Amino acid sequence: MGMPLSVLMVEDSPGDAALTLRLLTKSGFDLSHLRVETAAQMQQALYSQSWDIVLCDFSLPGFNAIAALATLQETGLDIPFIVVSGSIGDITAIELMRNGARDYLMKNNMARLAPVVERELREAALRRERRMTEERLRLSIRVFECADQAIIVTNAEANIVATNPAFEKITGYRESDVLGRNPRFLKSGRQNGVFFRNMWASLLSSGHWSGEIWNRRNNGEIHPAWITLSAVKYIDGSVTNYVALLSDRTAILEARGQVDFLSHHDAMTGLPNRALLRDRMQQAIDEAKASNEKVAVLLLNIDRLQRVNDSFGHDAGDAVIREFADRQRAMLAPGDTLARLGSDEFVMVLTHCANADEIMVIAQKVMLEVARPLHVNAEEFCVTACIGITVYPDDGLEFAELLKGADTALSLVKADGGNSVRFFTAEMNARALRRIALENRLRYAVDRKELLLHYQPQIRISTGLMCGVEALIRWQNAELGLVSPVDFIPLAEESGLIQSIGEWVMHEACAQNKAWQDAGLPTLRVSVNVSAHQFATGALPSMVKQTLSDTGLSAHCLELELTESVMMRDPESCFQQITELRRMGVAVALDDFGTGYSSLAYLSRFTIDKLKIDQSFTRNITTDARSAAITTASIALGRSLGTTVIAEGVETQGQLDFLRHAGCDEIQGYLFSRPLPAETMALLMAEYSKALGSVMP
Ligand code: C2E
Ligand code: MG
Ligand code: MG
Repeated sequence: MGMPLSVLMVEDSPGDAALTLRLLTKSGFDLSHLRVETAAQMQQALYSQSWDIVLCDFSLPGFNAIAALATLQETGLDIPFIVVSGSIGDITAIELMRNGARDYLMKNNMARLAPVVERELREAALRRERRMTEERLRLSIRVFECADQAIIVTNAEANIVATNPAFEKITGYRESDVLGRNPRFLKSGRQNGVFFRNMWASLLSSGHWSGEIWNRRNNGEIHPAWITLSAVKYIDGSVTNYVALLSDRTAILEARGQVDFLSHHDAMTGLPNRALLRDRMQQAIDEAKASNEKVAVLLLNIDRLQRVNDSFGHDAGDAVIREFADRQRAMLAPGDTLARLGSDEFVMVLTHCANADEIMVIAQKVMLEVARPLHVNAEEFCVTACIGITVYPDDGLEFAELLKGADTALSLVKADGGNSVRFFTAEMNARALRRIALENRLRYAVDRKELLLHYQPQIRISTGLMCGVEALIRWQNAELGLVSPVDFIPLAEESGLIQSIGEWVMHEACAQNKAWQDAGLPTLRVSVNVSAHQFATGALPSMVKQTLSDTGLSAHCLELELTESVMMRDPESCFQQITELRRMGVAVALDDFGTGYSSLAYLSRFTIDKLKIDQSFTRNITTDARSAAITTASIALGRSLGTTVIAEGVETQGQLDFLRHAGCDEIQGYLFSRPLPAETMALLMAEYSKALGSVMP
């Protein structure tokens, strides 16, 4: 089988054609052919199949080689065009060649036919190959220029010989700045030597490496890049170049961060979703376990959101939800979480909770915040909420259990008509309700004159004489009976009622003391307990001053008892206020001494007139060596500071003897008298002034 050859013959003489074809067959070609005589036939033939060569008679009836060549050229095909002629002048032949004919043969001398055809086939193949190479090169250049990936080409010594535009875009370096340099200037320093040694080992052994590298841009910025390295090898296996493809992963990583955020947050409010809530809750539980604290789960539901949706459209409903979320979010303390579970369902996780009361205070605040009217598109909306509460570890140890319990509590609230709060545990709920009721009643206690003061004498041990009285508040309520300050002072402090109650106590105690003096009873000092919250505003000295001038009591007949917690809050402001009070002549006593944390640290800064040893020590001085030691040390400390020392809670003669022996200045306690109503106290004072002797047992 010879070389395949498809010949398109433009020839009007079948005899001539056959002659030519026979010559070719004899030369060993495996021929296929078609003979055409007109431009139209030729055109059709050119488009219908591919040809290796066109052999064209110079002149045909109504057609000729010049027209045929033009016809071929119109198609844009690169097919060798050979003119075969019986009578062609040199001039015409040259012109044809100039126009693109590859050769011409004379019909009477066809010896050149086979060599010419062979040559033309060879040259056409070469031309085709060159065209393909050019095409590929053009493509490569386009890829190089247009690639999103940065491309770095180095020589075998790893010095840069080319970079593309994406390289400049990603790294910020221009090609002209980096030619001839080793690409190590891109290193960020985040990967160590081992990393790069492994990279080179892989590149040299397998010819490839790919992985993520943190690179440094020209502007100093560090960014993650995915890099593919290949060694380009010569036929003999030696490396001629290295090519690095580098894509910037910053956007991808950022997008992933976005994805991460979206998969953990509610799109409408930006609040954590259930998945993130579970994580946060677990974290809160773990921390609470370690620190012995409680975690509260508040399941919140907006009442009647559907009504807003129905009447004002879902946009309004969405706006209400967002506003609701913003308000609740604003109330969160660090470490707390607010999450959105469903359309109108939220969960608040409160950490560092001490007890149900504290949780209830927050739940009440949430309810108040919800109740404030909200404005959407100039419409005013009022929504309410209900809250179901569970507490870790009381109601459950795990997220799911706690959430379920909160849901149960919530459904009970809903069944009751909503707009309320409920604990899962009946007992906690009862406590919380009691607390709310108590707070509501306390709110009116001052106005309804339900508060009163009892007074307890303080005795100087050396003389056995009464030297002062402590005013102790009582709350006489019709339904609750006589309520102890231990039960309602903390409530007053949390609800802010302590300010007005504190003012009332101050006024009442000063007025009473003045009244006793005016009645001719001995001049004594009255001690008034002041809570830390009263120091917070900084207005205590002016309040005291006002009270003294209103009641006409001398400042020297007033003493304030404060606890260490007062000083811990804001030592600077506390120091100023104490200094101002003492300058006015008011004495300051440190109550419950020994129960706080850093008494000594404070004592070194504040000048205090009196130390009051806490009754928890007094109670045990005769039975417990530790209490005895602390009491003795406290007395010694007071002495060395020039401070009066009083022991409270003295109930027995044995305790008194111990204190006297230890050098304590004063005592207060049931041994001498319980706290008494003002009238009874007046009788005691009158009795004692008549006797003028020692009242000490
Ligand atoms: P406190 O200032 O340490 O008051 C001493 C408490 O010990 C009083 O309890 C008093 O009745 C009690 N007590 C006195 N002698 C004895 C005794 O021999 N044995 C025993 N077991 N107890 C004795 P009370 O009146 O219940 O007051 C409790 C706390 O309430 C006070 O502790 C004080 O911290 C606070 N409090 C009382 N009245 C006021 C007030 O007007 N304002 C403020 N902010 N707190 C007050
Ligand atoms: Mg006191
Ligand atoms: Mg005390």
